[in-house]
Amino acid sequence: MTDLDHRQVIAIDGPGAAGKSTVARRLADQLGAMLFDTGALYRTVTLAALRQDIAPSDEQALAELAGGLSITFQPASVADGRTADVLLDDEDVTWAIRTPEIDSSVSPVSAHPAVREQLLDVQRNIANGARVVIVGRDIGTVVTPDAGIKIYLDASTEERARRRLVDLHERGIDATFDSVLADLKARDAFDSGRATAPLRPAQDAVIIGSDGRTIDEIVTEIDSIVRARWESEGIPHG
Ligand code: C5P
Repeated sequence: MTDLDHRQVIAIDGPGAAGKSTVARRLADQLGAMLFDTGALYRTVTLAALRQDIAPSDEQALAELAGGLSITFQPASVADGRTADVLLDDEDVTWAIRTPEIDSSVSPVSAHPAVREQLLDVQRNIANGARVVIVGRDIGTVVTPDAGIKIYLDASTEERARRRLVDLHERGIDATFDSVLADLKARDAFDSGRATAPLRPAQDAVIIGSDGRTIDEIVTEIDSIVRARWESEGIPHG
């Protein structure tokens, strides 16, 4: 693999509920790129593990599970706020992977090196040679360290909790500000503190804070960064 393979990869990392998915969807549409939300991969493995009564601590069983699952992404088939359909085998699990139960189990599952190893190739294969916006925690540092553009989207924990609460209430899920805040803090600690692929900005990432800014402003900022880079590299961008 050469560096050129990932020139059109836009890696967007950052903590939960920082606005990554919404920003990425808009950006992908504007730039004619695919969108790949890697959190959905880890969430789907977690859903399957809970269904099969596999403990979040059982690294070996989780890695085998992750290696054997058939997880597919396709363009959103329902206009209900989703950024894409997520299928486990043929089942639409788009919303089943976004419940507070999955929120609280996904970080321990994702922290296992053997689980991450199982999911690495599928992520790199999607990135290979593609114009794609990839959203996650370790995209700029581990999955595609040679991505053409690396963004680290951050926001205060309180702002993220407010956004996540609105999102849950819109879907009719009961939660309190305090429970959402506690979950985000716990996940931040897990995701940043793990030994393998911890959440942190890549050295060459552009760090963008989203507190008090609209999605429009952030999308416009990243869009300009990408187009300027592509212009200088002779990559067509419409
Ligand atoms: O982005 P999202 O909140 O859906 O991610 C859910 C969880 O999946 C994160 O809290 C993290 O534990 C894990 N994850 C990860 N690496 C990624 C994407 C997500 O460890 N690239």
